[in-house]
Parts: sequence; structure tokens; C-alpha cells
Amino acid sequence: MKTIGAHVSASGGVENAPLNAKAIGADAFALFTKNQKQWAAAPLSDESIKSFKQNCRNTFAPEQILPHDSYLINLGHPETEGLEKSRTAFLDEMKRCEQLGLDRLNFHPGSHLDKCSESECLALIAESINLALAGTKGVIAVIENTAGQGTNMGHRFEHLAGIIEQVKDKTRVGICIDTCHTFAAGYDLRTEKTFAATFEEFGKVVGFQHLEGMHINDSKKDLGTRVDRHESLGKGFIGIDCFRFLMSDERFNGIPLILETPDPAIWADEIKLLRSFEQ
Ligand SMILES: [Zn+2]
Ligand SMILES: [Zn+2]
Repeated sequence: MKTIGAHVSASGGVENAPLNAKAIGADAFALFTKNQKQWAAAPLSDESIKSFKQNCRNTFAPEQILPHDSYLINLGHPETEGLEKSRTAFLDEMKRCEQLGLDRLNFHPGSHLDKCSESECLALIAESINLALAGTKGVIAVIENTAGQGTNMGHRFEHLAGIIEQVKDKTRVGICIDTCHTFAAGYDLRTEKTFAATFEEFGKVVGFQHLEGMHINDSKKDLGTRVDRHESLGKGFIGIDCFRFLMSDERFNGIPLILETPDPAIWADEIKLLRSFEQ
């Protein structure tokens, strides 16, 4: 069974996110638990936490919810100040998930900023994850693959495996595969054959046991461009077939499948379309 939703607004409070998800017929959702463009955030109020749990009850279990961290955080920051700031903010985000009763937090691995090597950056990211896991309970750190824009790490499956390898508690490190990022990073998904080959490679290099979520997006940019621009399903360079293959593949059952497509007005239709592909 697949659970499908979108990255919905939590404007006015995290408790609004499950309501926004229900309104589009979703049975999964993603949210920011704080303003994603700011470092500091007020703690979640007891009232907000209570309403969030109430609004999720009977509809959204933790494995149907994929919170996303702030875009400012760089867990592989090559400089001490930036690294410390990122680690503090990430720990806070993990704790917010813990408070909300959530079991996973999705984040972009980090960037070397041309100031350290790729392997040094991966080691910093893994150490950042180890620190965050040591300071929390029950929340899985879910690394998202990237398009490889600029100096972003995480665009090769080997990067993801390289981080996991250095994380002490393997039961609390996961992966979120974003279809747009995968394609822009150079892994083809357009035909049955290329889709199968890409995920066979993912299985070999990383392993499906770590897959804790997916971002379901088409791409405004072509294969291997390493540019991250999401497109509505079927309107980009990936095309609709990829999403048919995905929906009829049992390896993607039981994890949040999250739209981050650019037109919220058609999310309800995109969810219906995806469900129609499910066999
Ligand atoms: Zn994504
Ligand atoms: Zn993206």
C-alpha cells in the first residue's frame, strides 16, 4: 500500500499541516516544523503539539509524515562556525520532530563550498548525524539525494552510502530519493529499462532497507544537468511513465511519497493520478 501527499503549508502553526494535507485527499504529507529560511525559531507550544497530534490521529501515522529541515543548515560545512551553527539548528529540528511524535527528519546532506574535499565533507556530515542521533531518541535522520548543484554533496548514490557507512546507529539513518534530483544528477528514469537500472544501482550501492521516503517530482531540466528545478508530473523532462513504474513497484510501499511539484492547485489531481497508476 502506498501513501501519497505533498509538502503542505504549516503557516499559522504545525497543526495546520495535517488539515492542509486532508484537504487535498492526501494520506501522507511533508512540512517544515519552523520557518525554513530562518535560523532561530520559537519553541513549539504545548498547545500546538497537542493540536498537531489530534489533527493527525486516525489519518496520519508517523510513517506517513516526512518533515523537512531548514535550507540554511549545512551539516558538512567546512568551517567551524558554520558547522557548529548548523549542528545546533539540526539538533533543534530533530528535537521538534521528537516532540511532535514523528520518527524521521528529511534533510539535504551538505556542501563542501570548495573548501574541503568530498570525502572530508562526507565525514563531517556523518559526524553531524552521529551527534544529532546521540542527542535524541527515535527519530531517523533521512538524507535526501541531491541534483548536485554547485558544491552540494549527495548526487551520487556512493555519497549516500559513504555517509551511512560512517553513521554508528544504522537503524536511525535513512534515505529520501527525489526523482527530480536523481534525474538531474544523471540517473535516467524515463523508460522501464532505465528506471529498473537506476533502482537496481540504488539497491546495490545503498540498499532499499534505508529508503524512508520519496519526493515525487518531474524535472524542468534535462538528464545530468545537475540543476534542481521541479516540474509538475508529466510536464517535464522525466515524463509520466516514471511515475507509473514507481506506483506499481512494491519497493516504494509503506513510506511517505511526497509531491514537491510547483503548482499546489493541482496537487489533489496529481495524487489522484498517482493512485490511478497503483496496481
Ligand atoms: Zn526533494
Ligand atoms: Zn529539489
